[in-house]
Amino acid sequence: MNRFALARFVVATFVLCASIVPSEGQGRKTTVELIIRGGTVVTMDGSRRVIQSGSVAIKGGRIIAVGKASEIDRDYAGREVVDAAGKVVIPGLINGHTHVPMTLFRGIADDLDLQEWLTKYIFPAEAKNVTEDFVRVGTRLGLAEMIRSGTTTYCDMYYFEDAIADETFKAGMRAVLGETVIDFPVADNKTNAEAMAYVEKFVSRWKGNSLIVAAIAPHAPYTVSEDHLKAVRAFSDRTGAPIVIHISETKREVDDSIKDKGTSPVNYLNRFGFLNDKVIAAHMVWPTAEELGLLKKLGVGIVHNPQSNMKLASGVAPVPQMLKHDLPVGLGTDGAASNNDLSLWEEMDTAAKLHKVFAKDPKVVSALEAFEMATIRGARALHLEKEIGSIEKGKRADLVIVDLDDLNQTPYYNIYSDLVYSAKSGDVRTVIIEGRIVMRDRKLLTLNEVTIKADARRYRAKIVQTVGVKTLPED
Ligand SMILES: [Zn+2]
Repeated sequence: MNRFALARFVVATFVLCASIVPSEGQGRKTTVELIIRGGTVVTMDGSRRVIQSGSVAIKGGRIIAVGKASEIDRDYAGREVVDAAGKVVIPGLINGHTHVPMTLFRGIADDLDLQEWLTKYIFPAEAKNVTEDFVRVGTRLGLAEMIRSGTTTYCDMYYFEDAIADETFKAGMRAVLGETVIDFPVADNKTNAEAMAYVEKFVSRWKGNSLIVAAIAPHAPYTVSEDHLKAVRAFSDRTGAPIVIHISETKREVDDSIKDKGTSPVNYLNRFGFLNDKVIAAHMVWPTAEELGLLKKLGVGIVHNPQSNMKLASGVAPVPQMLKHDLPVGLGTDGAASNNDLSLWEEMDTAAKLHKVFAKDPKVVSALEAFEMATIRGARALHLEKEIGSIEKGKRADLVIVDLDDLNQTPYYNIYSDLVYSAKSGDVRTVIIEGRIVMRDRKLLTLNEVTIKADARRYRAKIVQTVGVKTLPED
């Protein structure tokens, strides 16, 4: 080795050593942005591992390691460490079906049949109030409620969905957002051509975004013509955008389809190749056993909305059969006007209990199965299982820290039983989405609760006037 080569070797060795100098303590640690330390980690990975005194290391918005706190301490140094000792760390909950701006219609009219509820209240209230500003205000309200209850991803269908995407991205929340296509003039688009042009721009604007998946949302097979549904299918094939749609929500929808089209909604849609693994179908209350087999074969995602289906008396979806055949079925709240909240905790609890009483069998839909529907199976329903739904190395860092010490959780014996049957929204402490803390110790960091409530009350006053809502006590 000559003098120059030796000098180069010395410099190179120095540079190499400088980059692996231990950051603190003993051993060589990788520095990460965030470590969630010392909690009971409910991973929902393939073996449903639950790690006591576990930690999660997060870098670049993704989970880079999950394990015992002692192992993570040995290998990683966090720029920030959140203490989760005595708490549960779960994958962020997934609300598979919402109409998020409708949160402003929460409680506008209850205890009516679907037709009266829609025609006397919801449609007039929408016609007189839905503007881009309304949508933004309602979205911020819904986002705040969802984050405070541990939801990190939601799937939506409404109007002005580009504004919803904007608000969602600003709040740091993840979503699949479907712009509505429907065969009558609505608040943002008056014709099908306008709606398709809107969707084209909307999908290309958000392409590649880390939080937002822009989608197209034909309302239902009975409100969108076959030609328009075929155009939606072609759009999805060309752009890769998911399709969000309501299918087989009520018995009447199925009966009408058989009368008008000669077959059920599922078979009708399948006749022209509409159904595939890009479709996210809300409700699916009335499929036949053969149709469930077809939906599984085609890879259609399904979202079960137990509380909305109960409140509107739509029926009971065959969820035990869906689970038995391992269909990708998630949970949704539907719009707050038919629920009337956006809590996945209530939805899990209701799903587990509704099917027990309906099947007269307490063994169907276990606590673990209900929790799966709100996490990893819900991720499959949205076709996002490679990215979210479990706490695993390589996945997006969407995590929720839940208290385990409140009176309603004391004592606890089984973590899934505690999470599904005992825990409530108020037990959620801290929420992390894409590695960013969006709620810390119940304080929202990306949304202003005071302004959100004031804005919502301003709209309430307008809605009461325009629709003639009967308030109690009277205004
Ligand atoms: Zn819906």
